[in-house]
Amino acid sequence: MSEMLRIAVQNKGRLADGSLQLLEQAGLGITRNPGALTCRARGLPFELLFVRDDDIPSLVARGVCDLGIAGENVLREEALEAADVDNLQTVRALGFSRCTLKLAAPKDGSIQSIKDLQGCKIATSYPQILAEFLRDKTIKADCVTLKGAVEIAPALGLADAICDLVSSGATLAANGLVDFATVMQSEALLVRSNTVWGDGKEALLSRLLRRIDGVINSRATKYIMLNAPKEAISDITALLPGADAPTIMPLAGRDDQMAVHAVCRETIFWDTLEQLEANGAHSILVLPIEKMMG
Ligand code: ATP
Ligand code: ZN
Repeated sequence: MSEMLRIAVQNKGRLADGSLQLLEQAGLGITRNPGALTCRARGLPFELLFVRDDDIPSLVARGVCDLGIAGENVLREEALEAADVDNLQTVRALGFSRCTLKLAAPKDGSIQSIKDLQGCKIATSYPQILAEFLRDKTIKADCVTLKGAVEIAPALGLADAICDLVSSGATLAANGLVDFATVMQSEALLVRSNTVWGDGKEALLSRLLRRIDGVINSRATKYIMLNAPKEAISDITALLPGADAPTIMPLAGRDDQMAVHAVCRETIFWDTLEQLEANGAHSILVLPIEKMMG
């Protein structure tokens, strides 16, 4: 039988859409039947397994799945809790599902900084990460583990403070909480088991990684095209963010004007476009890049 890789992704939640979108853009070809917990990809020999995010580290560590996409926070929590989770390694940081594990407490309350946590009760879904953090800061506090709705613990009198994931901070504010310290930053990671694979599986992973790198690079990269007077070209090319070798060509029938085309590896902000225009650039187009390789 030809080689196949099995990859664990979150069934539904804050990692699910980003994971599927990345794999789809990498050409896996995924059509998921509603309710199905597995799916064979059409584009490459991969099988997807749809599970809860908390189960992903151990599924990969035990070799049930070859690969998995999970949050750094979950991977760290599981690694601290279960020894067998050592048997996996990160192969790529994927740049989506970014969030921060923060400490927060009621606004205008007695807890305003880490040292105020001495002897307090802290509610969290990440008891291991929190315990490690507190040990490091030599704080002794009680940890109350809740699977969800951690933000309401202070209002219910269950805890004095919380340690929870934050992205915009809107949920904290809605619950009258203010964050005062960062415990860890997190993003989605692609992990693999440390189990020795045959050449076929290794080759398949390399192929996937090249495509994933192409997708991630192209997300941050734009193609910019503009026209400008000849004498302004050096000022204009200096303004292009992360462009290594722009193509500069004369405009047909216009001796004084040039066309500049460049791949910009950094975000092109409106400010940059305004500066380009102020330097004489016109007909400026910024285009997304769908795929990149080589
Ligand atoms: P499951 O049912 O799979 O156990 P869950 O409720 O534990 O899901 P989600 O809320 O879907 O988990 O979050 C999954 C992951 O998404 C988190 O562990 C974290 O890595 C990431 N994430 C990104 N932004 C946020 C956020 N604002 N709040 C919580 N998690 C976030
Ligand atoms: Zn979960």
